[in-house]
Amino acid sequence: MIRTESGIDWRWNWSRRPALGMETRQFQQLFSLLQGFRVSETGDKWTWEADDEEAYTIKSLKKTLELNRIPADPNPMKWANGVPLKVKGFIWKARLDRIPTKVALTSRGVQVGSEECSFCFGNYESSEHLLLHCLFATMVWNKIARWCGWSMPLFNSVRECMDSYSDITGSNSKKETMAVILKATVWYIWLVFNSSTPSVDGVVDKVRVNTFFWLKHRARKINVVWHKWCSNPLL
Ligand SMILES: [Zn+2]
Repeated sequence: MIRTESGIDWRWNWSRRPALGMETRQFQQLFSLLQGFRVSETGDKWTWEADDEEAYTIKSLKKTLELNRIPADPNPMKWANGVPLKVKGFIWKARLDRIPTKVALTSRGVQVGSEECSFCFGNYESSEHLLLHCLFATMVWNKIARWCGWSMPLFNSVRECMDSYSDITGSNSKKETMAVILKATVWYIWLVFNSSTPSVDGVVDKVRVNTFFWLKHRARKINVVWHKWCSNPLL
């Protein structure tokens, strides 16, 4: 920081310049914050943002937390009978955008090189892109939608996609079945993403076979028959 006659000038002494993508965006945010920075002649001191008058205390922190409780999720995750725990855990993280995509890793300071999607190299690799909008994911979803006789809308987020089972018309078991298929599709797209030979048909087959066994052996209320399941799981 250099004080000039017209104000403050910033000179950057980089050991490494910010990479394109998230780092550049974060640098721009930092720079815009610094634009409003004013230097005073008084010495620096630590302050506690929650209370201008008092320094940080546990009592003050507790009061702040009580006043700013994190609101409950208005649309909590449907856990879905039959889905294995590891898949539920993954979906829970994906809904909160907590899976290790390149965009998420970069935002946490992990060096991943380019943030481009490893499938299509044309977009940022976010959870929405990877699991919903990438060409590979789109081809999988199209086949899943055709199998289910479902006209799949364009989802903006994993959360929106996972919650869309409730829009299916019909019985609760039909909605439950759809919830399981949605979770399985996202899970197997993610798994194949980490494999060396991604195959759209391979993902669709895994969804079709494994959701059948999950429901047959783990969901007591849903009765599934293989040949019907293969033609349309929602009938
Ligand atoms: Zn992609």
